[in-house]
Amino acid sequence: MSNQDELLGEYKEHLLGVFGDPSLVLVSGEGVHVTDANGKRYLDLLAGIAVNALGHAHPAWVRAVSEQAGALAHISNLFTSPGSIHLAEKLLKVTGAPEGSHVFFANSGSEANEAAFKLARRHGRAHPDAQGRPRTRVLALENSFHGRTMGSLSLTAKAAYREPFEPLPAGVTHIPATAEALERQLDDTVSAVIVEPVQGEAGVHGLPEGFLALARRLTQERGALLIVDEVQSGMGRTGAWLAATAQLPRGEFPDAVTFAKGLGGGFPVGAMLTAGPEVSALLGAGQHGTTFGGNPLAMAAGLATVTTLENENLLVNAREVGAHLAQRLREVPGVGEVRQYGLLVGVDLVAENTEDAENAGTSGDPMAQRVVAAAREAGFILNATGPTTLRLAPPLIITAEQADTFVEALPHVLKTVRAR
Ligand SMILES: *Cc1c(COP(=O)(O)O)cnc(C)c1O
Repeated sequence: MSNQDELLGEYKEHLLGVFGDPSLVLVSGEGVHVTDANGKRYLDLLAGIAVNALGHAHPAWVRAVSEQAGALAHISNLFTSPGSIHLAEKLLKVTGAPEGSHVFFANSGSEANEAAFKLARRHGRAHPDAQGRPRTRVLALENSFHGRTMGSLSLTAKAAYREPFEPLPAGVTHIPATAEALERQLDDTVSAVIVEPVQGEAGVHGLPEGFLALARRLTQERGALLIVDEVQSGMGRTGAWLAATAQLPRGEFPDAVTFAKGLGGGFPVGAMLTAGPEVSALLGAGQHGTTFGGNPLAMAAGLATVTTLENENLLVNAREVGAHLAQRLREVPGVGEVRQYGLLVGVDLVAENTEDAENAGTSGDPMAQRVVAAAREAGFILNATGPTTLRLAPPLIITAEQADTFVEALPHVLKTVRAR
């Protein structure tokens, strides 16, 4: 038995099964590559699900985190450190947040969204409906993913994630991303509308043209907050600091934005940005908190990530290599629609039979899972977001040549899957 198989056996014995059976035990990484416990090397086209923006063991990130670990790692929020102040300043600056905006640091995307949910509840109290009752409803979108904690789960659309844990915090209505649904549902009982500008977990789907701009206008007119979940799409992933910017009229900004995945470059860092003094005032002293949020080690990781993204011009790289990759993928036989936002890429596979097309996969793994497994054998890491959809979210440092090695291997990968 290989070293890796032995470890995977022990994993099953000791770790809760919520993640199913992991396919690999990874032990090291460098740049866009990772190595497993058997010494096999892979091109990492997933980056820990859109997290490792700088790839693995980037020297600037390693230096910053190591130095900080040797100086001061954790202090609680009874105190502060230069890192949280500097990262907050940086985040407000690069995103173009309006004057009087503020940042709350958390440790994950779910936690950032919990904070935003609490912000919505506070806003609902501060801006009651026509009868003087607090606004208690929140509108979220169909196919949304906002996290797995009880609050963020109630914002998440997928029934299979939600139903086993009901009752969840009440008041969330999931609507289709249409102007008509928004016009109809956004009344004076709604405290906030939360949207992902690009739905990553749903298979990388952008919002319909004009939808976010309409949501901005209607929330303003009708007294609700617009919360944008940039946990996956933010921090350069789509080639911009905020994926929302391209979808909003110039000068417009959401009322709150949440971040996580790419922000720490591999260290758990989440954040909520509150736009402007009025929104920032909704959560006062004692109304929210976290032990770990904003700790010096996390802030060093975040600062190193953001500064390196700037210094190495990686947002431009995300746009250029992303466009190149998508264009080449579209030429591969067996590949259907390719949806590309910077280096967040959804790839639909042409279903080989109706079972795959209909999402069943009851007689074995769905097609996309089999492609993921075959790609792994060929030395590439990616994942499936649906029965016939692959997601690529490589490190933002990836070159076109490195991306090409996957495109060139894909026809063979698809052939082995179809032959089985
Ligand atoms: C991953 C993700 C989350 C949840 O983040 P966690 O760090 O896993 O809690 C929330 N929203 C979006 C859009 C995500 O992609």
